[in-house]
Amino acid sequence: MQQVITAGQVLIGPARQRIRDGGVLVEDDTIVAVGDRREIEQQAGPAARHRHFPTTSTLLPGLINAHVHLCFDATPHFLENLIQADDLDLLPGMAGRAQQALGSGVTTVRDLGDRSGLAIRLRDAIARGDLPGPRILASAPPLTIRDGHCHFLGGAVSGEAEIQERVRQNAALGADVIKVMASGGQITPDSPPMWASQFTGAELAIIVEEAANHGLPVAAHAHGTESIAAATAAGVSTIEHCSWKGPDGPDRRDDVAKQMADKGIHACTALSRNWRALMERLGPAGTEEMYGRLVWLDELGVPLIIGTDAGLPGSVFDDLPGTMELFDHLGFPLDQVLDMVTTASADALGIGDRVGRIRPGYDADLIVVEGDPLARLDDLRNLRLVLARGREFQPPG
Ligand SMILES: [Zn+2]
Repeated sequence: MQQVITAGQVLIGPARQRIRDGGVLVEDDTIVAVGDRREIEQQAGPAARHRHFPTTSTLLPGLINAHVHLCFDATPHFLENLIQADDLDLLPGMAGRAQQALGSGVTTVRDLGDRSGLAIRLRDAIARGDLPGPRILASAPPLTIRDGHCHFLGGAVSGEAEIQERVRQNAALGADVIKVMASGGQITPDSPPMWASQFTGAELAIIVEEAANHGLPVAAHAHGTESIAAATAAGVSTIEHCSWKGPDGPDRRDDVAKQMADKGIHACTALSRNWRALMERLGPAGTEEMYGRLVWLDELGVPLIIGTDAGLPGSVFDDLPGTMELFDHLGFPLDQVLDMVTTASADALGIGDRVGRIRPGYDADLIVVEGDPLARLDDLRNLRLVLARGREFQPPG
């Protein structure tokens, strides 16, 4: 089936490139042409379905949330709810949350930690067309240490042999990416503090090497500066959180950040939309530590992408613009912020050859909004159309 979609402007990605009065021709699940509205209409066959949106509308690539946990339900009880449910009980909730994301214009999510590879099963069901949903890239249970950060997801390992075996198991489950908890975190009682490393540099290198044997990139959760440095040296693809914490407080290291920039390692800071309230609580110094690092990383050339850690308490699945507004608040140009959730994210996740741009041959993941998100991010909430691999999604109810 052919579809023609036209709008006042088409952001083809990178976000600075736009076509006024443009259109896209879609054939089944693929973009076949993009350009001037009249030319696109002329290329369409007689049976094509035409959708014309007003001159005040914007057509752009579907958004990417680069860090979510579909198996967490975003309530204060997310952990007990997970632990008490068996695998089959979790799947319907995960599907619902994936659809919440899609209904908000997010056509791709990267799930960085589930139990038993459930997000992979959901990914495959969506890809088969059994149910609507976004494209899912999934890591399966993250590697961690015994009693370490998120051990309850089932990925605890100790020593080289177990590390390699867990990577092989996740690859066999069908993982798109290997996730490792390189440092401690916040949500696991009696686990190492956030700044403390959970794996040695040598162990991280083994993870990267074994993942590469299966053609997989590595995403490293790293709050501590030592773990960021070790993950960078090991050559991971993305560093999650990237909080620069030392045992005695903030510990930003220019040399490590520059190595990240040189290696093209993306930082995905995985922050929720609740930054305004947090800034009030933290005060100016705490705010600078927590959020000033984003500006510092950008100044040193570290490529940034946006995830929200959706699934943790209060971190919802349907408000990616809420986190994008943080970057606006920090002074990032809006075209760069849009890039972080489309083109740059797709490149960072290894899918930049078919996702994150509006270009012939790319997957038809498109959204139309009323307004101009290059002028106001809030306009991303005025959704008029969500197309996921060519299929229109209308949120239930
Ligand atoms: Zn996370």
